[in-house]
Amino acid sequence: MTAVEPKPSAVRDTFDSLDPATDEVVGTYPVHTAEDVQAAVDRARQAAAWWAGLGFEGRAERLRRWNAVITHRMAELCAVVSRETGKPAGDAQLEVVLAVEHIHWAARNARKVLGRKRRPAGLLLSNHTASVEYQPLGVVGVIGPWNYPVYTPLGSITYALAAGNAVVFKPSEYTPGVGQWLADAFAEVAPEYPVLQVITGFGATGAALVGAGVDKIAFTGSTATGKKIMAAAAETLTPVVIEAGGKDPLIVDADADVDAAADAAVWGAFSNSGQTCIGVERVYVHEQVYDRFVDKVVELTRRVRPGEQYGPMTMPAQLDVVRRHIADALARGGRALTGGGVGDRFVEPTVLVDVPEDSAAVREETFGPTMTIAKVRDMDEAVDKANATAYGLGSTVFARRNATRLAQRLKAGMISINAPFSFAGTAALPFGGVGDSGFGRIHGPEGLREFARPKAVARQRFAVPLKLTTFDRTGKTDDLVRKLVTGLYGRRR
Ligand code: NAD
Repeated sequence: MTAVEPKPSAVRDTFDSLDPATDEVVGTYPVHTAEDVQAAVDRARQAAAWWAGLGFEGRAERLRRWNAVITHRMAELCAVVSRETGKPAGDAQLEVVLAVEHIHWAARNARKVLGRKRRPAGLLLSNHTASVEYQPLGVVGVIGPWNYPVYTPLGSITYALAAGNAVVFKPSEYTPGVGQWLADAFAEVAPEYPVLQVITGFGATGAALVGAGVDKIAFTGSTATGKKIMAAAAETLTPVVIEAGGKDPLIVDADADVDAAADAAVWGAFSNSGQTCIGVERVYVHEQVYDRFVDKVVELTRRVRPGEQYGPMTMPAQLDVVRRHIADALARGGRALTGGGVGDRFVEPTVLVDVPEDSAAVREETFGPTMTIAKVRDMDEAVDKANATAYGLGSTVFARRNATRLAQRLKAGMISINAPFSFAGTAALPFGGVGDSGFGRIHGPEGLREFARPKAVARQRFAVPLKLTTFDRTGKTDDLVRKLVTGLYGRRR
């Protein structure tokens, strides 16, 4: 049992999950109340104790079996993803494949990263041993978005589970079926306790989870919601991880492989209809290769087929945002080299040039299949412009000689060099942003530690005559300690 049981006597509100391409109802789910959410968190407490008791190996074994269920029934899961988000089957598969890779990595590495390790005890306590281990937090509340409804929430859920926590997951109201599918699959491999539960509903259900006494909230979604969650979590001093929006740049140096950069920009901007937190939204290109780059981008963009290579906008309200950004860019002197059209469901792949840097299309998250391209004198200007937003999630660099230096200078949590999005597919790398893109990390060792608390233990192995922490300490001991420390650390050079 993973879903929160509706109360039999109560008349329960429900909501429909729709296919964004047709508005066909693909599922109906309960709107869970604050009471339901509290009950789920209470149940999760017991589950957490059992799950933590399995230890690293026991949990790894269940996580591997979960992976086997997901991989064997991948087509079924992909169909749910496509129905709820509108994305093509191949893109749905790509996100599932990446998520599977992360489950495998987290299961395999949790002990190594979180298990007990010795630390040096230091000179004054050389008769001690010191160690640290990372223990589970207890119950983690995960609140997810709809754009990558498998990959994104599993970035938190997988790592929280591998670290020994139970999870109560509130999927987006646009993709409740995907959330339920994942939890049902997990229940097949851990039927004993509700270690991963799903609660469904809108913002109010998510807000109830934040206030339900969980030990941490892992939120992925918009910056505006992230701020509300953080404010609410402050009431109970509940720690939060915030994975929020982005306005990711791609920069192209004069010595870059221009064709490869253009291909990455086109895929990075338009795949998943541009509804990607780390999607390419802005491009800055060295003047020496600008014309060649723009020509190639336009050529490649003309081959992109909306409805085939990417789906409709999943969230109808986003169409207005995209429409406003394009209209503002054009009104302020920008030119659309391709596309520009925003229909009832689909947005044409849109390449914008000559857009002022202070316009909405350059400063705000568009979350649609658009990109702005700007010419820069040199890479200092590219870095300055790339860094001039409040966001700082991912970035892409196309360059040869200076690639690593450019990557170091970009204000972003993650950088991909000479390929799009590769950091997201590397399970060992931490994922997260700076500024308005949030804080905290999922994935990799940092992602495991995010869902665990360090416990420090110092153990005396044998008593020594030089006792420091007793009222019996003598002046002679104090003298000795002073001389010892001055001798060790007091040298001026
Ligand atoms: P959203 O902020 O509207 O909603 C995200 C989730 O928060 C949903 O489940 C929603 O029901 C819930 N929610 C809404 N109000 C709440 C409240 N007051 N308290 C608690 N929960 C509440 O975001 P979205 O439209 O679903 O997702 C798109 C956004 O997510 C984009 O900005 C995108 O960049 C971002 N995103 C970020 C990452 C990342 O890893 N940084 C990944 C994917 C998406």
